[in-house]
Amino acid sequence: MKVVVLGAGVVGVATAWFLARGGATVVVVDRQPGAGLETSFANGGQISANHTTPWATPATPWKAFKWLGRADAPLLFHLRLDPALASWLVRFLANCTASRMRTNTERALRLAVYSRQQLAAVRAATGIAYDQLIRGILHIFRNPKDYAEALPLVELMNRLGCRREVIDADACVALEPALAAARPHLVGGIFSPDDESGDAHAFTVGLAEACAAEGVTFQYGTTIERLVRAGQAVTAVETAAGTITADAFVVACGSYSPLLLQPLGIRLPVYPAKGYSVTIPVAAEGLAPVVSLIDDEFKMVYSRLGERLRIAGTAEFAGYDTTVWPKRAMFLREKAMELFPRCGDPGAAEFWAGLRPSTPDGVPVMGATPLSGLFLNTGHGTLGWTMACGAGRVVADVILGQTPEIALDGFGSERFR
Ligand SMILES: Cc1cc2nc3c(=O)[nH]c(=O)nc-3n(C[C@H](O)[C@H](O)[C@H](O)COP(=O)(O)OP(=O)(O)OC[C@H]3O[C@@H](n4cnc5c(N)ncnc54)[C@H](O)[C@@H]3O)c2cc1C
Repeated sequence: MKVVVLGAGVVGVATAWFLARGGATVVVVDRQPGAGLETSFANGGQISANHTTPWATPATPWKAFKWLGRADAPLLFHLRLDPALASWLVRFLANCTASRMRTNTERALRLAVYSRQQLAAVRAATGIAYDQLIRGILHIFRNPKDYAEALPLVELMNRLGCRREVIDADACVALEPALAAARPHLVGGIFSPDDESGDAHAFTVGLAEACAAEGVTFQYGTTIERLVRAGQAVTAVETAAGTITADAFVVACGSYSPLLLQPLGIRLPVYPAKGYSVTIPVAAEGLAPVVSLIDDEFKMVYSRLGERLRIAGTAEFAGYDTTVWPKRAMFLREKAMELFPRCGDPGAAEFWAGLRPSTPDGVPVMGATPLSGLFLNTGHGTLGWTMACGAGRVVADVILGQTPEIALDGFGSERFR
């Protein structure tokens, strides 16, 4: 069986890996000169399987309203005439109920926990090193009200099978001594010991090399122009370098997936949610955290990647614009330097922005479509690195006619019809 994977981000490369291991002949096509050079390039680094609560919660509309007009808002909407954004927002608001949140959390968690197991299996099979740390994720709070509001979610997540521990401010510092200077501002934390962190780009590059060793062909520097439909089937993909025919096609183009699907009559509410990251070389051991962190106050994450500290955050609905706006990027750097004042030289910081492929319910879109030969693996939003290996495995299983090890109800594109 010949399969073409469209997109060489972490999701596309993971899909190619499992397809090749399952015996398929695989071609991966991407416009970039290498793997993982768009959204998978410099993300927050967290494998946060225990943090799958979607953006759409009952509290989000009010919070977003309060942030309106603030340039440093964690969630920023650029008011513009964009039908795709308007329709995405309507669906997003419909998901901001307690029962939808619970359903969406359970779905995302199912995939994320499975994905962490698959990541461990890939690591064992390939030996890829990607500055991985298995030290858990600590969610810290400075505001007592926000902390109190977060505690019922811990109960919900633990009931769904997570391991999240509520710890006081002293225990936060004992767990991550680099937080010592911030101790007076902390009210407490929530620790998920089973979570991990690591460099998604290094992993994607390493896995692409492992794929190549398994016989996968990579066509980099190749823009995909359109999928070719014949009746109720997709039979080929036209690229700037020519047409490729195959038995199956997997769309794993991140935020750009809907643009390829729309001409086929498949409307997918995957919208780009822009985020920023800052990477600072670490000055000395002990001054920067090694436990991966979520700072609730500013909705920022911290991951130690070897000798670097990666800080990421903000969500901006600005279409496909990836410009690094200095004000937004500097805000992240400033808050990081406040929390860890001597962690490194801020002048050596590297800035980046990427587009999270976001669905309104916070659950990815995976599996078959109404068109034979066409499969989806996209819309992983804030958790694409966390979910990549699990998503790659289940989509490969579906294509190869095997029964996936987790139930796939609620992940299909039909839920948006
Ligand atoms: C600031 C930020 C922080 C984040 N932090 C985390 C985190 O801590 N943990 C986590 O789990 N996730 C995180 N994410 C989310 C995660 O990075 C994404 O969900 C994930 O990278 C998406 O991977 P992908 O393979 O679907 O998309 P991409 O990595 O964007 O890959 C899609 C590929 O398709 C290619 N492509 C698209 N269109 C075409 C075309 N027409 N022709 C040819 N090629 C095309 C692109 O070149 C690209 O390589 C973060 C994201 C951001 C922006």
